[in-house]
Amino acid sequence: MRLALKPALSRSWRDSDTLQFGTVTRYAGVLGNADKTLCEFLGLVDGTRDRPELLEAGERIGLGREPADTLLTDLEETGLLDDAEATDRALALFPQPHRDLLGPDLASLSLVHSGPGAAPAVLARRAGTRIEVRGAGRVGAAVAAVLAAGGTGTVTVSDGGRVQPGDCSPAGLPPADIGRLRLTAARETVQRATGRNPVPVPRRKPGDPPPDFVVLAPRDGSAAFAGGTYEARLLLRAGVPHLYVGVVEEFGIIGPLVIPGVSACGHCLVLRREDEDAAWPRVLAQLANNGPGRARTPACDTALATAVAGLAALHVQLHLDGGRPPSVDGWCEISAGDGMPRRLRLRGHPDCGCLWQPQPPG
Ligand SMILES: [Zn+2]
Repeated sequence: MRLALKPALSRSWRDSDTLQFGTVTRYAGVLGNADKTLCEFLGLVDGTRDRPELLEAGERIGLGREPADTLLTDLEETGLLDDAEATDRALALFPQPHRDLLGPDLASLSLVHSGPGAAPAVLARRAGTRIEVRGAGRVGAAVAAVLAAGGTGTVTVSDGGRVQPGDCSPAGLPPADIGRLRLTAARETVQRATGRNPVPVPRRKPGDPPPDFVVLAPRDGSAAFAGGTYEARLLLRAGVPHLYVGVVEEFGIIGPLVIPGVSACGHCLVLRREDEDAAWPRVLAQLANNGPGRARTPACDTALATAVAGLAALHVQLHLDGGRPPSVDGWCEISAGDGMPRRLRLRGHPDCGCLWQPQPPG
C-alpha cells in the first residue's frame, strides 16, 4: 500500500505551528508541532512510498522512525490517508477520458469513506454496477447521465418515441436531439457524460440478468405516484431495488427508494395517499391513462427537474455505496414555489404486504 495524504484536503496554518487539513472547521484534521522537518516528511507522503519506505525516509530526514510511525498512525486514524495503489487500480477500470473526469468524484468519495483504500473500493464497485433508468424525459435522462458520469459502469435508458422539446434539459437531452429516437438520444447523452464518443451498444436481451438497480422516471412524472403497478410488482418479486422519481406540476418527488422486503414500497405510499383521500385512486388512474383532464402543457421547471435528478442520482449512489439515503422508508419533496427540500416518513402499510415476514411452518 502506497500511502498518500488525501489530495481532496486543502492545508492551512491555524497559527505558526498548527496545520489544518480541510476547510470546514468541524470536520478538519489538525496537526500540532508542525515544524520544518515534519512538513518535509508530510511532503513525502505523496503516494510514491509504502509505510516501511516512509519510516526509512523519516529516519533519513531527522524526524526519527518511531515519531514517523506515530505520525502515520495519527494521520490514518484522523482519516487523512489514502492508498494510492488502490486509487490507480480503481481508475484503471475506466477508459481514459472518463478516468480524468472522475478525479473530483474520487476525491469526494475519499472524504465520505475515510480509511485508506475505502474510496477506491467504492469506485471499483460502481464500475461493476448496472443501472436501468426507465424514462428519458427531463428528469430520467439527467439521472442517467449523472449516474454514468459518477462512475456507474453500465447505465441503460429505456423509453419509446421521439424526443420532444419538453424532454430537453441542460443536464439531459440537448435541444439538438428533438425529433430523434429517445432511446438513441438518451444512450448518446449517457456516453457523452463519461467523455466517450457515442457508439451503438447491444440492446438488452431476454434472459440477461436483471440490473442491480432500476430508476423509475416516466416522462409524465407519474412514477412518483405509481407504486403498485405491474412493473413495480415485478421488481419487488425479482428483489431489484428501485427508486421513484419525477416532477408533477410544481412538485419534485424523490422516493421511496425501495429495498424489496426491507423498506416500504411504492404501493405503501399509494395506500397511504388513499387513506388520506378516498378519491385518489380515481385521480391517479386518469393521470396514468391520459384521462380527459390531462394538462395540455405539463409543468416541469428546468431548475427543479435538474435538482430532482441530481438528488435522485445521489440517493442511488448512496444506497449502492452502502449508505441509507433519506428516500428509504420515506420520500423527499421539493416545490418550485419555495425550493425547500422536505423529507417525509413512510411506514410499511399494513394492507400492502411487501414487508410481511413468512410464517414458520406448523
Ligand atoms: Zn409496500
